Amino acid sequence: MPEEKTLTRRDLITTTAKAAAVAAVAQPAVQAAKEAGVARPVAIASRNGLAAVKLAVESMLAGAAPVDAAVAGVAINEADPSDVTVGYGGLPNEDGVVQLDAAVMDATAMTAGAVAALERIKHPAAVALQVMRRTNRVLLVGGGALEFARAHGFPEENLLSERARKIWLYWKENASGKDDWLGDPGDAEDPDVRWFIEKYGDSYFRPDGTIHLSACAADGRLGCCTTTSGLFFKFQGRVGDSPLVGCGLYCDAEVGSAGSTGHGESSIISVGAHTVVEFMRQGRSPEAACLATLERVVRNTRASHLRDESGRPKNNLLLYAVNRAGDVGSAAIWSGERSRYTVCRAGSEPRLLESAYLFRREPARR
Ligand code: ASP
Repeated sequence: MPEEKTLTRRDLITTTAKAAAVAAVAQPAVQAAKEAGVARPVAIASRNGLAAVKLAVESMLAGAAPVDAAVAGVAINEADPSDVTVGYGGLPNEDGVVQLDAAVMDATAMTAGAVAALERIKHPAAVALQVMRRTNRVLLVGGGALEFARAHGFPEENLLSERARKIWLYWKENASGKDDWLGDPGDAEDPDVRWFIEKYGDSYFRPDGTIHLSACAADGRLGCCTTTSGLFFKFQGRVGDSPLVGCGLYCDAEVGSAGSTGHGESSIISVGAHTVVEFMRQGRSPEAACLATLERVVRNTRASHLRDESGRPKNNLLLYAVNRAGDVGSAAIWSGERSRYTVCRAGSEPRLLESAYLFRREPARR
């Protein structure tokens, strides 16, 4: 299969010509996979999606529509407190309140549903599915989304896990030496806080998480879902790309499905997922479509506060895509531990793979 065999790490020190050259290199692999027969159903997700893609494929094999399979898969992450980027246990906003964003899309019916800044509901993707199926609207936010979830019987609960509370408090107390919060020097020794600092404590790259899952059924039907607790310690009410159709996710029955994780504002400005689908419509492979979209994101990253000393984006953005034939691909702006994706195909175990990328992250930086 293409992504497993030949799409190794590479440096594309950002020229469109170089990106095009890499896309050309990728084509024989895609062709070889086509000749070998690409297995469907298939699901592709962000790096935290190993269990989710497996369940999504199992669900499709059992007859679920791709969008339902996607929601079933990501529910694993939403319920898992060790995933601090999604659902229960997700890191809160700057006020210590967990606000969740999620969206779903069904390529066959060309319908979508979404919720943003939703509090106290563990499974926002399932609420988004109800918005899609039980309303003639697409996006509900804040209190309105909560009222809607209540009306549909979703239980309310405290979503702030002890680990997330301790990490948030540490951040709050150490964010500035000029406010009224005083930290305790021993706090950095707390196992939960240490875990966070080791995993995310880099000042150069903003922490990111989220799960996107795109699903393609045995007959080529497509659906997708993105769900997140959003940027860590965000403004109250800040909404990222995840619940925005076209940005955090998009699918089209004639083409494929795509989604994004990482720096949400970058995906919003370049309408990330929709752009990937449009590049696939022009005939590019999923990986080449993701790379072409990221090239555009780089060109659109013009504000100086978003660029490093070499003029490259400071933040990372990851894209994931599947076409209706079942080929998959992923790419990131920056290489690194977090620039990976997960795939599961019918008859195979889920796999964690490296995304293609535009810039190699220097070893000194995480
Ligand atoms: N894209 C999400 C957002 O901007 C965050 C993430 O993926 O980490 O809210």
